Amino acid sequence: MRASILTLWLAAVSAAAPPPVKVLVLTGQSDTQYHDWRESTPFLRGLLEGTGRFEVRVVEEPSGITARTLAPYDVLFVHYNGPRWGAAAERAVETFVRSGKGMVTIHGVTYGEFMGTRLRPKGGFEAAPGGGWKGFREMLGVSWDPDKIGHAPRHAFEVKLDAQHPITRGMEPVFLANDELYHRMTHAPGIRVIATAFDDPANGGTGKDEPVMWTAAYGKGRTFHSSLGHDLGAMYQPGFLATFARAVEWAGTGEVTLPARIEFPARPQNPVRVLLVTGGHGYATSFYEVFQGHRDVAWTHATSPAEAYRPDMAKRWDAAVLYDFRDDLDDRQKASLRGFIEAGKGVVVLHHAIADYPSWRWWWEEALGGLYLLKPSEGRPASQFKEGVPLLARPSKGKAGHPVVRGVGHLEAIDEVYKGMWHSPRITVLMETANPLNDPPVVYLGPNPEWRVLYIQYGHGEEAHRHPGYKRLVHNAILWSAGRER
Ligand SMILES: [Zn+2]
Ligand SMILES: [Zn+2]
Repeated sequence: MRASILTLWLAAVSAAAPPPVKVLVLTGQSDTQYHDWRESTPFLRGLLEGTGRFEVRVVEEPSGITARTLAPYDVLFVHYNGPRWGAAAERAVETFVRSGKGMVTIHGVTYGEFMGTRLRPKGGFEAAPGGGWKGFREMLGVSWDPDKIGHAPRHAFEVKLDAQHPITRGMEPVFLANDELYHRMTHAPGIRVIATAFDDPANGGTGKDEPVMWTAAYGKGRTFHSSLGHDLGAMYQPGFLATFARAVEWAGTGEVTLPARIEFPARPQNPVRVLLVTGGHGYATSFYEVFQGHRDVAWTHATSPAEAYRPDMAKRWDAAVLYDFRDDLDDRQKASLRGFIEAGKGVVVLHHAIADYPSWRWWWEEALGGLYLLKPSEGRPASQFKEGVPLLARPSKGKAGHPVVRGVGHLEAIDEVYKGMWHSPRITVLMETANPLNDPPVVYLGPNPEWRVLYIQYGHGEEAHRHPGYKRLVHNAILWSAGRER
C-alpha cells in the first residue's frame, strides 16, 4: 500500500516537472583566437544539458535557417561573430524572437558585421559598409561606436547584481568575474540592466559602473545579453555559469527554476559507486578513460588490497572493478571481498586480473569461474599470452539481449590473447571468440547465479580502452553488476 502511494506520488511529481527548454545554438564563426566557438560551444552546451533543464541543438552554418528551422525552439543562443546570414535568415530570427520567444548572446557578438563594424587592417575598428544588421542591434538593445569599441584589460573584478530580476533573484548580490570588462557601449533606452561592474580607471577603465548584463523586450520576445565570456576560464566563474544558464531559461520561458548555483560538470545523480582496484601490474593511463563520461557512475581508486578490501566496503561501494594482479590476500581482505560478493554487490574483473589470487581457491573456483595459470598447476600447463592480436568476439547464442552485452554487438579490438586458462563448467558465457590463439570464452558470468561477478577479457591497452564498444561493454557490466541494468 505504501509502495503504491509512493508510486502515485512519484508519478505526480514527474508529471509536474516542466518540459525541457528547447535551445538552438547558432554558431560556426568567431573573430579571434580567443573567442573560439569550437571550444566554447560544447562547453556551454554541456553546461546547459548538465542542468537537466534544456534540450540543446547546434547549427554551425546558420545562413540557411528559415522560420521552419527555428519553430521547434524556445530560445536561440547566438554565439557568432562573422559574415551576415542574408535577409531571409535574419528576418526568420527577428520574427522568431518578436513572436514571444527568446534570444541570448554573450561577449564578442557586440562588434563585428552584425553590429555594423569591422576590424581595420591596421588595428582598431571602423564602420562596415551596409551598416550591419539593424534588427540585431535592436534585439540586443545595444550598439557600439567603432571608435569606442574596447575594454579594460582582462582582470578579476566584482559584478554587482540587481537581485529583483528572475535571472538574478536568489543569487549572491556580488560575484567575481575574471574577464574583459567591455565599456563605452551605447545602450538603448528600454533595456533593463541587471548587472554592472565598476570600470577602474587605474586599470584602463572609464571610472564608471558599466552595464555587464541586461535584458530587452523585442516584440513579445525576451533577450538577454552578458558582456562576459571571453574564454573558457572566464566562463568557468560560478557567477557566469549561473547567470548564463538562468538567462537561457528565462529567455526561453519567462521564468527561472534553476538554482542560484550551478555545478559544472554536473554531479551525477544517484550514481553507481564504483571502486577501481589496481596494483601489481602496469597499465596505460587510458584505462581511466573507460570510466569517464558516464553520468550514472562515480568512481574512485584503490591501489592495494589493504586499501580496497576493508570490512566496510559493502557500505561504501556498489561495484568493484578489478584490474589488479596479486598472488594472494590476507584473511581479513578475503573476508571483506567475499562478504561484498555475498552481500550481492558487483565485481567486474578485467583482463589481467584473471590471474588474481591463485592461492585462494574459493575466489577463482566459486566466485569468478576462471583462472589464468601463471605456472603449471595440478597437472595443467601454464596459460599463454600474446600481445597485439586483433581479437573478434561475438555474443554467444541466445545471449545478445543480456544487459551486459546489449548494444555491443560484435567487438573487435587489438588486444592481448590468452590461451589455456582454467574455466569452471558452470560459467555463463556471454561473448566468445573463434580465434585459435584464444580460449573461446571472452565475457562470462561467474558460476553462482545469485552473485553479480563477471569477467571481461579485453582491456590490455589503449586499443581496447578507447574502443567505444569496449567502453559500452564495461559500462553495461558495471550497471548490471550493481543491479542497475536497463
Ligand atoms: Zn574577448
Ligand atoms: Zn595485458
